[in-house]
Amino acid sequence: MRFVFLGLPGAGKGTQARVLSERLGIPQISTGDTLREAVQEGTALGIEARTFMDRGEYVPDGIMVRMVDERLHDADASKGFILDGFQRTVPQARALEEVLGQAGTPLDAVVQFLIGDVTAIRRIIGRSTCPACKRTYHQEWSPPADDSLCDADGTPLEKRSDEDALTVKRRLAVYREQTQPLEAFYAERDVLRAVDAEAPVAVVSARMFDALRDVL
Ligand SMILES: [Zn+2]
Repeated sequence: MRFVFLGLPGAGKGTQARVLSERLGIPQISTGDTLREAVQEGTALGIEARTFMDRGEYVPDGIMVRMVDERLHDADASKGFILDGFQRTVPQARALEEVLGQAGTPLDAVVQFLIGDVTAIRRIIGRSTCPACKRTYHQEWSPPADDSLCDADGTPLEKRSDEDALTVKRRLAVYREQTQPLEAFYAERDVLRAVDAEAPVAVVSARMFDALRDVL
């Protein structure tokens, strides 16, 4: 079972990917983590990526696609995967399609989590994440029991420093410009499933399972 999750920042993709990952026993793969791991482990692609990062440049699409491809061949992904936050542009989606097509393992579904701008901004600004287990918290709706520590493992939570309203608005604009065209790309391929994500986590999870019931 192979899935891609799309949605504005703050739409809850990461949280829902964790829910589906636990239910199906397939890994949740994010580009950020894949890149960090490759650099840490010093793989050939990790070393190549490092040269761009050291110069403060973005890692080019070609390297990212090969890195994700490599990650998808790890043993834990043999039954499938959930890609969360990889395709930011149509060229990346095309490259992924090619890689999966060659392996004879096309995507089963692309889930699009829908929220409005106001919700996105409110959600992102109150958010913090546990660097150890990736659990997310929100100061308003799901605060940790102890002010700044993860409920599961006691790790100090991290808050992204760049997340003020103006930066978030800019991120939303970038999303609309670069990532929104992916919706048409996947709708054409008949794999797109829209989920209304303006609701508590459990409700959105139920909607997600409902949208995927024919492929699960
Ligand atoms: Zn944790």
